[in-house]
Amino acid sequence: GPAPEVNEPVVGWLDQHKDGFNHFIDGKFVAPSEGKRFPVFNPAYETELAQVAQGNAADVDKAVKAARKAFKSWSALTGHDRAVYLYAIARHIQKRERFLSVLETMDNGKPIRETRDIDIPLVARHFYHHAGWAELIESEFPGEGPVGVCGQIIPWNFPLLMLAWKIAPALAAGNTVVLKPAEYTPLTALAFAEICREVGLPAGVVNIVTGDGVTGNAIVEHPDVDKIAFTGSTEVGRIIREKTAGSGKKLSLELGGKSPFIIFEDADLDGAVEGVVDAIWFNQGQVCCAGSRLLVQEGVAEAVYAKLRTRMANLRVGDPLDKSIDMGAIVDPVQLKRIKELVAKGEAEGATLFQVNKGLPAKGCFFPPSLFTNVAPASTIAEVEIFGPVLVGMTFRTPDEAVAIANNSRFGLAASVWSENVNVTLDIAAKLKAGVVWINSTNMFDAASGFGGYRESGFGREGGREGMAEYLKPVTDKPLKADE
Ligand code: NAD
Repeated sequence: GPAPEVNEPVVGWLDQHKDGFNHFIDGKFVAPSEGKRFPVFNPAYETELAQVAQGNAADVDKAVKAARKAFKSWSALTGHDRAVYLYAIARHIQKRERFLSVLETMDNGKPIRETRDIDIPLVARHFYHHAGWAELIESEFPGEGPVGVCGQIIPWNFPLLMLAWKIAPALAAGNTVVLKPAEYTPLTALAFAEICREVGLPAGVVNIVTGDGVTGNAIVEHPDVDKIAFTGSTEVGRIIREKTAGSGKKLSLELGGKSPFIIFEDADLDGAVEGVVDAIWFNQGQVCCAGSRLLVQEGVAEAVYAKLRTRMANLRVGDPLDKSIDMGAIVDPVQLKRIKELVAKGEAEGATLFQVNKGLPAKGCFFPPSLFTNVAPASTIAEVEIFGPVLVGMTFRTPDEAVAIANNSRFGLAASVWSENVNVTLDIAAKLKAGVVWINSTNMFDAASGFGGYRESGFGREGGREGMAEYLKPVTDKPLKADE
């Protein structure tokens, strides 16, 4: 099992809340109005971690009212005054880095190495970056002001990082928020609520309401919410777009993907194979921009597959709190079942499956790193987002064919191109229909650059200047409902 000194503070914190967690509304922890709670599990051990409040329309209404009340004074602060709060949040996140990493790993199942080195440092970085934007709004966006009350709904794959992507720019611009974390992973959002109190953030500026799709829907339908920011599945994104149509609410959607990872014959093949490992086995492949479609130029396909199989055999799957682990647990049995069904479908469709089952824990939501080859471009596994550690390999002959296969997708979130010929990479990058194109690299995120998709991957950008614009509007436009 895990070293006890590692998770002791987290276990103590969960113990303090063994009667159940509450919503965070108007600066206070508030019991759910119907008194209902739901269990949250550690997917690696299949143990219950906590009971969390199930939000209903009345809870959401309370949170929206608090956010509306707080908007008046928060939006009237100078950018500098708001920046001071964002810097304080960033520093507190760094101070609690270890606690937050362990909690995130226990709640989500992702390796501690990732939460410690990637998720939580990026969360702090996002707040630092947006503290800078708070200072710059007036000079960089003259005539623009905050949108108002923002309803923010996030997924479970990067729980605290997705919260940071949503809350940091909203607050920097002078908005107030009602955020709902995903039902599988609400715990770091509740720890974040404590940080808001520690830094003395004014009551009502950040409200966290926990629950499922019913709670999310109550946020989407609330008439006094001025903007909805959603990250999640394309299916739910479509529902939200329909529900907000004609409402006057501003909307941004970050949805699914099936991103191509293209390797040319002249690529540094060892580097490219390490890239593949990052692209599809980072976070167990539960990454919206995962390089889940491998396109290899014919002449090197066998060499690349051979290198990949060797590398897969060395990946360690197991207890995510173990620092030497490469892959942790899948977030929930429901997701695990979905992955298994899609892999069975791939086999039924005639693709060749390679898996390394060695060392997989007997208990817990684990799935081995998996590679499909001989995949037909029109098959289910080549088209559908699997959202797990399953790579789908296809080959191409010419650069034009690579572009055609890559763009033959409902999605358009990200792409990765590997070649030592800079002319080829730049030419291909310009032809790919993707919000982000990485060259000889993959899964690189920076608070300073906009991230988002085309087509069924959604619209709007998060991060950088474009991300700030999503939380601003002309000052002459009033909020949807005027202050009472
Ligand atoms: P999901 O759509 O099932 O859930 C996302 C959130 O929406 C959760 O908080 C959920 O409770 C809520 N929700 C569910 N039904 C709702 C409804 N009718 N109204 C309002 N809210 C509702 O998605 P998921 O399974 O949590 O996340 C996986 C998906 O998210 C994948 O498709 C992935 O690609 C996508 N994703 C995209 C990005 C991106 O930036 N583009 C980032 C991470 C994840």
